Amino acid sequence: MERARITVFDTTLRDGEQSPGCSMNVQEKLRLAHQLDRLGVDVMEAGFPIASEGDFAAVQAIAATIRRPIIAGLARACSQDIERAWQALKGGARPRIHVFLATSDIHLQYKLKLSRQQCLEQARDSVRLAKSLCADVEFSPEDATRTDHEFLYQVLDAAVEAGATTLNIPDTVGYSIPEEFGDLIRSIRKRVRGAEKVTISAHCHNDLGLAVANSLAAIAAGARQVECTINGIGERAGNASLEEIVMAIRVRPDRYPYDTGVVGEQLFPSSQLLGEMTGAPVQPNKAITGRNAFAHEAGIHQDGMLKNPLTYEIMTPQSVGVPDSRLVLGKHSGRHALGLRCEQLGFQFDRRELDEIYRRFVVLADKIKHVEEHHLLELIRQTRGAAGRGESPASSIGAVGQSFFKKPTPVPVAADFAVPLHPAVDHHAEQEDYLWGV
Ligand SMILES: [Zn+2]
Repeated sequence: MERARITVFDTTLRDGEQSPGCSMNVQEKLRLAHQLDRLGVDVMEAGFPIASEGDFAAVQAIAATIRRPIIAGLARACSQDIERAWQALKGGARPRIHVFLATSDIHLQYKLKLSRQQCLEQARDSVRLAKSLCADVEFSPEDATRTDHEFLYQVLDAAVEAGATTLNIPDTVGYSIPEEFGDLIRSIRKRVRGAEKVTISAHCHNDLGLAVANSLAAIAAGARQVECTINGIGERAGNASLEEIVMAIRVRPDRYPYDTGVVGEQLFPSSQLLGEMTGAPVQPNKAITGRNAFAHEAGIHQDGMLKNPLTYEIMTPQSVGVPDSRLVLGKHSGRHALGLRCEQLGFQFDRRELDEIYRRFVVLADKIKHVEEHHLLELIRQTRGAAGRGESPASSIGAVGQSFFKKPTPVPVAADFAVPLHPAVDHHAEQEDYLWGV
C-alpha cells in the first residue's frame, strides 16, 4: 500500500522568529533557509512581509534564492497585507500567500470588532484577492479551536469557494487536546464543501505540551500538512516541534503509515544552527535534539547499550544527525574533518573561511586535547566576529586560545553527546584523528 505523503510546512522563520529572544536578521534568516532546504521541508514560511522592512527583505531574498520548496509569506486578511506579501514573494519559483483571519467570537468581538457576517465576507474577499495574484493560497481561521463549529465550516466554505488551496486549522492558543482536535479535522473534511479538493493542515501551539500529539491526531484524521518549527520555538510555549513529528512518524510506521521528505540526518544540524544563531538554548532533555536525548548515564543502561543498543535506543543518534561521538577532533585532524564537523553543526564555509577557522583551530588544538563542539561553535563565532570587525586573522588567534584557558566556555547550545560507551575507541582517539585528516 502506498503511504500518504505529509507536507511539512516549516514556520521557524515566521512563527518561530516571533517568539521572545528568537529574532534574526536578514542574513541569518537566509542562512537558516538554506539549511531548511537541505533538511527537505516542503514549505517554508519565510516571514510576514508587512510586519517590517527586514521581514519584507528576508522573504524577498529567500524567495529569490531558494527555488525547490514552496516559499510562503503571511498576510492578514486585508489588501495592504496581501499586496505587500505578493511583492515580496513574486520573484519566487513556488510562491504561496498565507492569509489569516480570526474567527472565534472572542477574537471577533474584542480584537477585530467584527460581526460574524463581516468576518465571513472579509475572508472571502481576501482569499479572492490573494488568488488573483497567486495560484497557491492558504487560509487560516485564527483561533479555530475556539470558534463555533458551524460558523467555522461557513468561513472555510467561503475560503474554498474563493480559491484557497490549503485550509490550515490553527490551535492558536494551544487549548485543544488530541481526540478533540482529531474530531475537528474529521468534521471539517466532512462538512466543508470542496474539502476533498484542498489540503487540510494543522497548526498547533504547545501551551499544554500537546502540540505534537495534536498534530499527529490531525494527521490520523486526514490532515496532510503539518505546520511546525525547529526545536518547537514559537509564541509563548512554542509551536509543534518539527523533529518530534517527523521522528514519531519514522519510528512508528505501524501507527503512522506516512512519509515526509525530511532528511533525518539534517535534523540535528538544523537545531544547532538555529540555537547558535538565536542564542536560545535547547533544553537538555528535549526529544531528538537535546544534548541528553541520546546520553545514557545509568550503569544498567550503559551495560545494556554495550550489549545491544536496541535495549535502550528506539532510533540511532546518527539517524537524526547527531555526530558520531567517536570521531574526535584533535590537533591531527585535517581541514576535511573540520569542514565535515562544521557541516554537521549546520555551517558551510567557502575555502577561505574554512582556512581561517582551521588556522585558529590548530592554535587551539595545540593547547587543549579534544576540541569539543562548543569550542568549535565559539571558534566559528569569533572568526565571524573578527571578519566583521576587519581584524587581521593573526591578531586574534591568540585571543581565541587564551579565552578557553581563562574561563571554561559555557555550553549554550551544543554539547558533546559523547558517552564513553566504547572505551577502546576513546583510547585510540589519536589514530581516529589521523583517519579523519586529509
Ligand atoms: Zn502560530
